[in-house]
Amino acid sequence: MAQAAPHTPATTPSAGGSGLDPLDLYAVRASLSDEERLVQESVARFVEGEVLPIIQSCFEEHRFPKELIPKLAALGLLGSSLQGYDCAGLNAICYGLICQELERGDSAIRSFVSVQSSLCMYPIFAFGSEAQKARYLPRMARGELIGCFGLTEPQGGSDPANMKTHAKKRGKDWVLNGSKMWITNGSIADVALVWAMTPAGMRGFLIDRDAPGFSAREIEHKFSLRASVTAALFLDNVLVPDEQVLPGVTGLKGPLSCLTQARYGICWGVIGAAQACLRQLLDYTATRTLFGRPLAHNQTIQVRLADMARRITAAQLLALQLGRLKDSGAMQPAQVSLAKWNNCRMALDIARDCRDMLGGAGISAEYAPIRHLLNLESVVTYEGTETIHELTIGRELTGFSAF
Ligand SMILES: Cc1cc2nc3c(=O)[nH]c(=O)nc-3n(C[C@H](O)[C@H](O)[C@H](O)COP(=O)(O)OP(=O)(O)OC[C@H]3O[C@@H](n4cnc5c(N)ncnc54)[C@H](O)[C@@H]3O)c2cc1C
Repeated sequence: MAQAAPHTPATTPSAGGSGLDPLDLYAVRASLSDEERLVQESVARFVEGEVLPIIQSCFEEHRFPKELIPKLAALGLLGSSLQGYDCAGLNAICYGLICQELERGDSAIRSFVSVQSSLCMYPIFAFGSEAQKARYLPRMARGELIGCFGLTEPQGGSDPANMKTHAKKRGKDWVLNGSKMWITNGSIADVALVWAMTPAGMRGFLIDRDAPGFSAREIEHKFSLRASVTAALFLDNVLVPDEQVLPGVTGLKGPLSCLTQARYGICWGVIGAAQACLRQLLDYTATRTLFGRPLAHNQTIQVRLADMARRITAAQLLALQLGRLKDSGAMQPAQVSLAKWNNCRMALDIARDCRDMLGGAGISAEYAPIRHLLNLESVVTYEGTETIHELTIGRELTGFSAF
């Protein structure tokens, strides 16, 4: 099966003779530290050897490849930027590169790692008690425990302040009622971080999967992220001991700060998906002969390929600067919104354009762009839709909130 050729960094010089890497025209890789390059290479090798050979059939079978979890853990990719608790303690650029290489394989694999790392381990690390950190983080880093993040509800994910799931105090415990929708890893998670409204504001509750009254149901018939588990969660008088509440945060800033971490990873991840599409197109247009010459000889084809390279390059530089800001502690949520909006739009448009340039073959599972295109329809929507991120930038510019 003709999967997208994995891009082994800096080993695929362009055909133009300059020696430039067509997927890295501004030599981002050369600006990386040795450690950052090493991380990128090892994840790229993992994707080439373990993800690409199986991912198309996983997508077709609507199956998340759980067998990859121990391998992801062995590479230190779960909670990779956290310090201590058996986590790798890597910097933000490394985390970005991990996301980029994983999403070169498939958005589902990057989504799994994002949710485990940024949406479940990060809040336990940042807002959890010492006992919660010790109980969950090392086992989550080893892939022995899977986590999920329950914020979105059926009545509207863009407006989480309108949350209906609520928690009431009963003695020293809490009683939770409500439901969550579109939860990645939901039905395979050992622990669900559920955000619920209390009289004092929103709080985060760590709920073990076997808690009476808690259930998860996988959402089937998805046309997107088919190699990822997405579920609905139901809470029917679930009793949660007070020691399972995250003590360090109250209010919407809790889940929003987790989303800032995860969106940062998406800004990098989607670059990998776009690169996979462009790589396959460069190969295809070089060999597909129409009207007596390879497609790549035509001006309009070259213009379209050049435009993809321009947009990927701009996205890479945006992600790199965002990573430098994050590592210096200066990154602002609005900067993440702009990069999430720009980079998801870039990847989605490139995947669709690549699909078109493959002609009829572009609708076949033989080629990666249609799979990336379908996946990216989720990625552009989750963790804040494109509109919500645009409105966030609008608010930043004008001082007026339009949502
Ligand atoms: C595959 C997948 C995995 C997901 N994983 C998770 C997860 O792990 N955890 C989790 O909590 N959530 C998850 N989500 C949910 C995701 O974050 C939400 O789908 C997203 O936030 C949008 O919410 P919604 O689907 O309810 O759409 P809505 O909020 O109903 O939005 C519908 C449309 O209205 C637009 N809109 C909304 N408000 C405005 C406004 N003020 N002005 C103009 N337009 C507006 C939106 O941009 C969108 O186009 C996942 C979703 C998907 C598809």
